[in-house]
Amino acid sequence: MVNQDRLVKSFCNLVATASVSGREGAMRDLLIQAMLERGLKATEDAAAEIVNGESGNLLVQVPGNTPGKKLLLAAHMDTVEPGEGIRAVIENGIIRSQGDTILGADDKAAIAAIIEALDVMRENRLAHADLEILFTVGEEQGLKGAKAFDFSGLQAEAGYVLDAGGDPGCIVIQSPCQNEIEYEVYGRAAHAGINPEEGINAIHLAAKALSAMPSGRIDHETTCNFGLISGGKARNIVAEYCHIKGEARSLSRPKLDELTERLTRTFCEEVEKQGGRAKTAVTLLYPEISLKPDDDVVRLAASAARSIGLQPRLIKTGGGSDASIIHGAGIPCVNLGVGMQKVHTCQEFIKVSDLTTVTRLILAIIQQAIEKQPDASGN
Ligand SMILES: [Zn+2]
Repeated sequence: MVNQDRLVKSFCNLVATASVSGREGAMRDLLIQAMLERGLKATEDAAAEIVNGESGNLLVQVPGNTPGKKLLLAAHMDTVEPGEGIRAVIENGIIRSQGDTILGADDKAAIAAIIEALDVMRENRLAHADLEILFTVGEEQGLKGAKAFDFSGLQAEAGYVLDAGGDPGCIVIQSPCQNEIEYEVYGRAAHAGINPEEGINAIHLAAKALSAMPSGRIDHETTCNFGLISGGKARNIVAEYCHIKGEARSLSRPKLDELTERLTRTFCEEVEKQGGRAKTAVTLLYPEISLKPDDDVVRLAASAARSIGLQPRLIKTGGGSDASIIHGAGIPCVNLGVGMQKVHTCQEFIKVSDLTTVTRLILAIIQQAIEKQPDASGN
């Protein structure tokens, strides 16, 4: 039923339309038009202003023609750089860029598959329940679009983000929660050669504090990192100030909370012990997904995969995605493998067969969501 030529053409057209994060205006216009041609209305929210970009998120409501579980399908419109002037090259069943840009299969493979699924549904008059489709902006900048989206108006009972790196059939059921942690040390400036004893060196204090803190892998599901450090004004001035930015993540919220508390407490204690003053700030970047194989949202995707001959693979990941935000907003949500490979590099590619398979998977998920009618034999 999937029209592979049409699907590939549509994918190539999507990647040729540049949509680097913050500059998704042309992609928004393309999608509004694509939906219009299919009798659907894509509504833009007010996120553009919040994320400081050209476009907001797009929501498309597809009314069902039969009862069943209401689903949300989601993909992101934006790409990383270099993402201008992308031209897809197809060779031996593989689609790549010309080598000087990314391809943008992340996440336009998902967008192309969703559009093709809509066409197949319409052409074959397939039965389906209500569908909500969300195209987000600013995903690559830290899930900015999804964070700015108001999920309270949605009806969906299960969400499927199509933005994972594995093959179609991969279902990400666990992903971490993450805190950004900022550490600041305030010391006292003095001349480094004339009166250093009157100073308190903020860099030295930060170093002492950090050496007393854990770093890297904490356990099989918990990590932390110090990623940025800056401070001081000149070689010959005792540094008055030092700033460190780090993170902590875990698949378990209690473990994240405990680790964050331990990090910030140790930092403050160590700095104050040495006569400095410390300040810390914690921001939850995204919440965890912790689903089990028998949760509805997982079971539905797994049986959809099996129904088209795929072996479902339930996996966990170390990073967040739009699925983290959707799940956190109360719609049970998994992230599905799309088959995109070497993403965020100029070697990014996707197999034509995976584009087709992920479209069939979307159709199978929509099919699985239809309410099963009790059969006439009374079984
Ligand atoms: Zn992505």
